Amino acid sequence: MRYFDHNATYPLCAAARSAWLDAVERFPANPSSPHRWGARAGTAIEDARAKVARWLGCRPSDVVWTSGATESNNTALRHLADATTGAVLVSGLEHPSVQAPVRRWLAARREEIPVLRSGVADAAWVEARLSRGGVGAVVLMAANNETGVIQPWRDVADMCARHGVPLMCDAAQWVGRMPTEGLGACEWVTGCGHKFGGPQGVGFLKGPGGFRGFFLGGPQEEGRRAGTENVAGVLSMVAAWEVRQEALGKAGRVLSAAVEERMAVRDRFVAALGAALPGIEFPGGEAPRLWNTVAALMPPAEDCRRRWVVRLDRLGFAVSTGSACSSGKEKPSGVLAAMGYPGSASDRMLRFSAGWETSDAEWRALLDAVLAAARELAPGNSQV
Ligand code: PLP
Repeated sequence: MRYFDHNATYPLCAAARSAWLDAVERFPANPSSPHRWGARAGTAIEDARAKVARWLGCRPSDVVWTSGATESNNTALRHLADATTGAVLVSGLEHPSVQAPVRRWLAARREEIPVLRSGVADAAWVEARLSRGGVGAVVLMAANNETGVIQPWRDVADMCARHGVPLMCDAAQWVGRMPTEGLGACEWVTGCGHKFGGPQGVGFLKGPGGFRGFFLGGPQEEGRRAGTENVAGVLSMVAAWEVRQEALGKAGRVLSAAVEERMAVRDRFVAALGAALPGIEFPGGEAPRLWNTVAALMPPAEDCRRRWVVRLDRLGFAVSTGSACSSGKEKPSGVLAAMGYPGSASDRMLRFSAGWETSDAEWRALLDAVLAAARELAPGNSQV
């Protein structure tokens, strides 16, 4: 099976796997235990915390281990609901693990950041809204999980700093793929291991000093997240992240040759598919995007999304219909709606998301498979 669903989960990479096996052998104890074995496990997760803090540009004490980006998003938003007053500006592009807590805890204070047709949140609107005053927090993701479109989080972080307003940035699709420089300027940053080759069920939250989490009942993580830390998970996630940091290079925000190469391969796929399939559209295709993601509105076919996914599955390709976590569960895409597409557009949406290891040959094979599926699904083809 050729795998093009890395935005949902990135298969465990070799470094993460060996870090996991190593950790369960070397650190069998509870990191809070008072004996030497406990201390050793505690030191291992503190060393990992220092690395993540360096990559994010913050203090180690700002980083808390969690079970993933959903928990991190809920924790940050619960804190913002309790600790701030005034409007909370939220883009309509956010993942459901942001949208649902906002609806539950911040509905009365929510103001939606408009999204341009290109899939980019309107930073000029945010600036104007901040200037009017009365804003308690801004919530904007780093890159969108469905389209890969890069959001103006760096500009918005500068604006928020000028206005003294906290910014929460869901960086689940960003870290391990793009340079992390500048993320430390966001008061809150969330992410998880399974989007870049770490294991599922582990993530991180960067928050301001002194924030309180809502898990109660234990002193772990300086009281900010009760519950025994997932030692092997954390070490495995950080091992994967380290491999990605190397691929991203040391040139700050400048994209490494490894990224540029992958972006060119992806762009060739888009150009070839666009030329071969009249009627196809690429939402967000005009905007700067993650190097690994292609969102496509396929030409109309009956019962479209599932049939495309099933056809491609039979041809040996794992692709997704859109929303990262709920792939296969058919709901209209809030992301496309925020970009101004009609509800029916969701029925034609496919998402192809590659990994660092995905080769040019695999992208070309995907192109052939999509074209074969298109012939099979063409209206009037009696074999379908
Ligand atoms: N935020 C974004 C942008 C995502 O893409 C995802 C997962 O798809 C999440 C949050 C949730 O992450 P997790 O599965 O670690 O809870």
